[in-house]
Amino acid sequence: MPIADPPPLAARATSVGGSPVREILALTERPGVISFAGGLPAPELFDAPGLRAAYDATLGGPGAARALQYSTTEGVPELRRAVAARLSARGLATTADDLLVTTGSQQGLGLLATALLEPGDTVLVENPTYLAALQCFGLAGVRVVPVPCDAEGLLPDALARITARERPKLLYTVPTFQNPTGRTLPAGRRAEVARTAARLGLWLVEDDPYGELRYEGTAAPWIAAHPGAEDRTALLGSLSKVMAPGLRLGWLRAPAALRRAAVVAKQAADLHTSTVDQLAAAHYLGATGLDAHVARVREAYRERRDALLAGLGGALPAGSEWNRPEGGMFVWARLPAGHDAAALLGRAVAHEVAYVPGAPFFAESPDSRTLRLSFTAHTPAEITEGLGRLRRALQHP
Ligand code: PMP
Repeated sequence: MPIADPPPLAARATSVGGSPVREILALTERPGVISFAGGLPAPELFDAPGLRAAYDATLGGPGAARALQYSTTEGVPELRRAVAARLSARGLATTADDLLVTTGSQQGLGLLATALLEPGDTVLVENPTYLAALQCFGLAGVRVVPVPCDAEGLLPDALARITARERPKLLYTVPTFQNPTGRTLPAGRRAEVARTAARLGLWLVEDDPYGELRYEGTAAPWIAAHPGAEDRTALLGSLSKVMAPGLRLGWLRAPAALRRAAVVAKQAADLHTSTVDQLAAAHYLGATGLDAHVARVREAYRERRDALLAGLGGALPAGSEWNRPEGGMFVWARLPAGHDAAALLGRAVAHEVAYVPGAPFFAESPDSRTLRLSFTAHTPAEITEGLGRLRRALQHP
């Protein structure tokens, strides 16, 4: 019998590669490596006993059958109400009906791409930006156009100019403690972004997984809260960084028509997010409350950030620059001219320390001198030891 090959994979599946960084970083999972690379929350800070109690309460009583049953695509009302209350308390009036529960905020991004984007559309992003957002837009077959940024994020004049010229459908932004740069967009620029979106006709996707991890300073309002942004902003949030990423719980807050389209997209993707996980999280938010836990996490991460910032100058080659984020998980650094962060990573890994080269995060014109350092997954003592290794790797090859 002649054997015919199966038809090829979809072009979109082959045009977007896996992350090159992931392959290098597999090396850093060896025991003994002090890694500033992964964006992982500190595992020893997870509130396993509190979550176990929440799952016990969910599965131990008469509600168990409901927790194990199919539920609605929008998400269980208890979790939506609890999230709405947290958003409202932080200054963005929100009801349960404004929210769609998602399987992590990453799913929210994918649903928005399905609901809003046609192949060939133009999407604006910060340069650099979150790698998996670039992947998501790549799979959607859109043209990604970067907006120039400075140390505080998007440059509003450049955004207005590029929007007028390129006629993009949406701007994707991580305005608070951005991944990868740790940068935060000041309040005035947020208002300008909202005004530009309203004036020139643009959807805004405001991705905020890190906003609650603030160690100092005061929070600027969400872009979604600004005049002009109400009817055109999708705000993505997540329990990953404040509770545990393994729960895969996030949410999408969007105007009704967009939310309805996202609900249809989610139905097609996974029907709904795990009922038992949603109910356990809702129980945790109601009974234990998240604030005490977030306060503990913040305290530990502040010390870790400070340990990294205290030692970074001694670890990086003379002439390097780096920022001092008021929160989040990342510090962004730039090596002096003539240095290539990707080329130096092998040397770092040989000294049992790792970081992520910055180049892959750029949609265009990658800056090979940049790197991202995450400070959350190691104690201050380990961070200091890791910086010693980095100094030996980078300064004394
Ligand atoms: N957006 C940004 C900017 C992120 O950094 C991450 C996680 N690294 C996500 C979205 C996805 O988070 P999750 O799906 O766990 O909520």
